[in-house]
Amino acid sequence: MKPAPFIYHVPKSLDEAVKILAEVAPKDGRVLAGGQSLVPIMAFRLAKPTHLVDINNIADLDKIAEDTKFLTIGACVRHAAFHKPVTGNPLGILLGTVARHIAHYPIRMRGTFCGSLAHADPASEWCLVAATLDATFVARSTRGERAIAAKQFFTGIMSTTLAEDELLVEARLPLLSNDARFGFNEFSRRAGDFAMAASLVTYRLQAGKIADARVGLGGAEASPRRISEAEAILNGQTPGDNAFRAAAEAAAGAIDPLEDHQTTAEYRRDLVRAVVRRALESSTS
Ligand SMILES: Cc1cc2nc3c(=O)[nH]c(=O)nc-3n(C[C@H](O)[C@H](O)[C@H](O)COP(=O)(O)OP(=O)(O)OC[C@H]3O[C@@H](n4cnc5c(N)ncnc54)[C@H](O)[C@@H]3O)c2cc1C
Repeated sequence: MKPAPFIYHVPKSLDEAVKILAEVAPKDGRVLAGGQSLVPIMAFRLAKPTHLVDINNIADLDKIAEDTKFLTIGACVRHAAFHKPVTGNPLGILLGTVARHIAHYPIRMRGTFCGSLAHADPASEWCLVAATLDATFVARSTRGERAIAAKQFFTGIMSTTLAEDELLVEARLPLLSNDARFGFNEFSRRAGDFAMAASLVTYRLQAGKIADARVGLGGAEASPRRISEAEAILNGQTPGDNAFRAAAEAAAGAIDPLEDHQTTAEYRRDLVRAVVRRALESSTS
């Protein structure tokens, strides 16, 4: 099928983009970033936006910047930008490790980091990263700019607190401490498919014990989030099988699992148990 007819806008500046968006959003106008989620659903006519506001020609939206605290990722930075570490901070290797799990190479060349956040698929790897690291999102409209914490941003399956006329301009990821360890694991039926469950963990070691543990979970519930029950179990423990299995068990017990025709709640809990344990195991190497 072909998409339903739409009017195509190509703003050259952010001000112009938000002005157009303010006009067209009430008429089901949408932002077009990498098009890797929007265009397929338009082709299936599951979405019929009457206007598209293409942000790819706006200068500087494809930039990644770093200061002492944050890595700032502009709205047009593609998934593929992270194939190689974008920073010497351990976050660079973390993002590279995760990026390889997103879809397939051609999709990673077009799809954007911020587009994934705005689309808010529960299984999106970048949404999991943002939730686990407590990212901040910057949204712009004709009313001005506002910062949104990851905890407040994701509100359900493909649902966020972005207003229809707001453009997600950038996402800010806190840099990790230099001694941070991380681990990532996801389960999908085929390479490149969306994850049925995924986990990202980070922590530090203080005198051989886990400190500042973060256990993030994606693909298992309506939105990715940190699992405080698992983090509480890990903090103060020596990294190893006992602590990792106990944390994985706590995560499996803490979730409200998504169910579908292929996946029962029990199966999803099993997957969560496995991906959290494997993410933790991979964090030691
Ligand atoms: C076969 C296939 C497999 C895939 N597998 C995975 C996977 O394993 N993991 C994964 O995470 N993703 C996967 N994707 C999705 C892909 O990562 C998309 O790139 C991503 O979800 C959306 O980014 P985009 O830049 O392409 O956004 P678009 O498709 O352009 O837009 C998606 C939505 O977000 C809105 N939007 C985009 N950018 C902004 C912005 N800056 N401000 C406000 N709203 C905005 C759009 O209006 C639209 O509603 C897959 C896609 C395909 C086709």
